[in-house]
Amino acid sequence: MSKQFVIGNWKLNGNSDQIKSVLGAVAQHQFAAEVGVCVPFPYLALAAETLKGGSVQLGAQDVSRYASGAYTGEVSAPMLKEIGCRMALVAHSERRQLFAETTETAALKIRLCIDAGLLPVYCVGESTEERNAGKMQETIATQLDAVKDLPVDQYTIAYEPTWAIGTGASASPGQIAEVHGFIKDKLGNGARVFYGGSVKGSNAASVLATPGVDGVLVGGASLNAQEFVEICKAAR
Ligand code: PGA
Repeated sequence: MSKQFVIGNWKLNGNSDQIKSVLGAVAQHQFAAEVGVCVPFPYLALAAETLKGGSVQLGAQDVSRYASGAYTGEVSAPMLKEIGCRMALVAHSERRQLFAETTETAALKIRLCIDAGLLPVYCVGESTEERNAGKMQETIATQLDAVKDLPVDQYTIAYEPTWAIGTGASASPGQIAEVHGFIKDKLGNGARVFYGGSVKGSNAASVLATPGVDGVLVGGASLNAQEFVEICKAAR
């Protein structure tokens, strides 16, 4: 069995001082699990420098669906790879909801990540309305189209129900186990599936002990070094 993976997602937060202090503190620790942090684009180089020589991996929060060319404002997978990133989040629900990310654009991004040697962390998950309407599985199955035909060892999935993100109300272990089981049935058992949505120091151990959980994606709690280290230590 591969190691569990804890990935911090700083979202649109932080500054140079925080990159140095928080990531500097996290980098002091040894973890049994794999650990990564996805910081805003302008701080990737500073984060790479801060994490240098340690085991904490660097990631981006998004990536262009184009490899290069006349696409003002975009950042490509090969660029991210060159400055030291190991992974990129793709189609986080905030990008789906606020920035017109679709399953089709996600599929392009995932392929470019793989071509560049980055691990795509592809985010899927249902809204409250979809869950209440009994459309949870249909929603997730459609989102999973973005990785169909790809070998399962080339990407990871993050299951992040939108109702659990930033709300303080994590999905329950039963809910997480059900959806992770569904995703693994669809993709094959080698698929790695992380959970995200209000993972904190206080619930990390129980989330990480839930069947089918190969890692966690941590938003708010990844901005605090002590709490993020606590979560990383709960992973195997
Ligand atoms: P949260 O965010 O941990 O703050 O709920 C998780 C995420 O959006 O990846």
